[in-house]
Amino acid sequence: MSAIAYPVGNSLYLNITNRCTNECPFCIRNKSPKFNQQFALWLDKEPTADELITAIGDPTRYEQIVFCGYGEPTVRLEVIKEVSRQLKSQKSKLKSNVVIRIDTNGHGNLFWGRNILPELKGLIDKVSVSLNAQDAATYNRLCRPLQGERAYTAIIDFLKEAKKYLPDVEATVVDLPGVDKEKCRQIAAELGVQFRIRPYYEETYVK
Ligand code: SF4
Repeated sequence: MSAIAYPVGNSLYLNITNRCTNECPFCIRNKSPKFNQQFALWLDKEPTADELITAIGDPTRYEQIVFCGYGEPTVRLEVIKEVSRQLKSQKSKLKSNVVIRIDTNGHGNLFWGRNILPELKGLIDKVSVSLNAQDAATYNRLCRPLQGERAYTAIIDFLKEAKKYLPDVEATVVDLPGVDKEKCRQIAAELGVQFRIRPYYEETYVK
């Protein structure tokens, strides 16, 4: 049975979809059906908001609750909003400091054809956006976006909009050959967002 919620450190990750708007060759989905040799993340069925709330249980056990999974979470925008709404309501009752985060490829506005960031204001505390490249050509080569050339510009625009509506925004890159990490760091600095380099985990996954 697949896991719709799984702990990593002090955080709880929510596995809400297998669908994605990229086809990154380095994606962990291509390496293993199990995350960290433990959690089966290929979903037979996408979880509902109620199923996720039940799987979360007491949110105060975690520092962060993260919308993530083996796909792009923003394709399930309404579920993100509903779960966050319920968590926020519990947070105010419980006076918890748990951070609600989305890990995204930054294609949300391109996918939905509108600016979704205002809809996340007050619901999402942090967004981590996979910038992954210093320019569109490198991004297209590394991430093979289904929407082609428009994807990279859409990510930059998503970061700009995220900064207007969400309190904590970071851009990340995976440490892969061909990624100019310093140029990416500079792009993040110009956008006024945090920057983080993520390790490439291949060896830790079961093949
Ligand atoms: S954007 Fe993320 S989930 Fe989608 S294919 Fe790339 S690494 Fe995998």
